[in-house]
Amino acid sequence: MKRAKQSGGGRKAPAKGRAKPARVVARAELPTSFGRFTVFGIAGRKAGEEAVAIQRGNLRRGKAPLVRVHSQCLTGDVFTSERCDCRAQLEFSLRQIAKEPAGVLLYLPQEGRGIGLINKLKAYELQDAGLDTVQANRKLGFAADSRDYEFAAEALKALGIRKLRLLSNNPDKIEQLESAGIQVSERIPCRPRTSRHSKFYLRTKKDKLGHLLG
Ligand SMILES: [Zn+2]
Repeated sequence: MKRAKQSGGGRKAPAKGRAKPARVVARAELPTSFGRFTVFGIAGRKAGEEAVAIQRGNLRRGKAPLVRVHSQCLTGDVFTSERCDCRAQLEFSLRQIAKEPAGVLLYLPQEGRGIGLINKLKAYELQDAGLDTVQANRKLGFAADSRDYEFAAEALKALGIRKLRLLSNNPDKIEQLESAGIQVSERIPCRPRTSRHSKFYLRTKKDKLGHLLG
């Protein structure tokens, strides 16, 4: 994502690019069952690069805000699937953020750890035949985890966040955010109680993807 738009003005300002990597394009109030939030639509420079964030409190005052960077999971977040822990993590995060003076949940449309919804369903089919989540992704020709948090970092900066406390179990996410210029001052484990159906999935996340799950 280091490519900067050449703005046709000759070769003098090479990488500066006038447009920011991500910017807020919509903002509205959002009352939820977890409390009152403000919802933001954030767009990147590339086509289709977008995210939604919900925020409460003043991010510029007091200690670093509590932030969850959540990857979309239609089956979990909406249909309450127990194949994974996404919905449980989403609810846990919103409850934690609601207790804080300020916080943000950034919701990224990178379904199925970045492989897309339909491919995720194909991976589920392979898992029903006995493969684990990592084996299934590899069989479909994808990396174990295709997610990229560079745009997430830019989206957080668009909200004015440079330093945060992160709700996460994923060391790779922390590393990517930090290398994109976001300071993670503290990691807060995101460990809701989960159903027995997701136990095998969680073990694979721990053993094969290095998630910090105790
Ligand atoms: Zn999920």
